[in-house]
Amino acid sequence: MNQAMIVLLHWISRYWEMRKILFPVGCKELANNLLKENGLTYRVVCEAETAGRCDWRQKTIYLSYGEDKKYLAAVFQAAHETGHAIRGPSLLTRILPVFWGLYMLWLLLCFAVGFVWDEAAWLVIALPMAALFGIRTVDSWLDELGATRFARTVLERLTPGKTEKLAIRIHFAAYCLTHIVLPVSFSLALLICGRIFWQLGVNWSD
Ligand SMILES: [Zn+2]
Repeated sequence: MNQAMIVLLHWISRYWEMRKILFPVGCKELANNLLKENGLTYRVVCEAETAGRCDWRQKTIYLSYGEDKKYLAAVFQAAHETGHAIRGPSLLTRILPVFWGLYMLWLLLCFAVGFVWDEAAWLVIALPMAALFGIRTVDSWLDELGATRFARTVLERLTPGKTEKLAIRIHFAAYCLTHIVLPVSFSLALLICGRIFWQLGVNWSD
């Protein structure tokens, strides 16, 4: 094993230890305090099975940890989702059903174009959709960045420790990274679906 790998493993194990750091407040209490501070009347639901999210319509914040959990991942998620509640949905999130409607139409278009046209036509219809996915990804990433920065600021205020602050920063970086890697992979997979529809159209016409 080379030196870089050893250093990397050392960092990962250190970070793993840091995740056990306890904060002075449980995740549900933290979310409720932040909501109150910002004059919001959201409900906070803690369910182990659910993914953490903010439902603007139902005015509910879902957390995937027990309500009294005080470790980094739990309080970070609480502050992050509350950050979403305070910021409200981004413009594109508000019109998300329109976006998905367009995508469904686009899949049909891929099939139709494959049926009647040639290979070059695929790029003509794929590029606008790719651009749309690009815009959506940037929009949602900026939104996530805002909520994640809010969480970092809140948690840094809660703790004076140097190790805690470092752990918060690493957690922040991991959040930012996940929120760009996942949507990009998801968008690529959805674009590939279009290509499959196009291919189906081509095969059907033969
Ligand atoms: Zn988020």
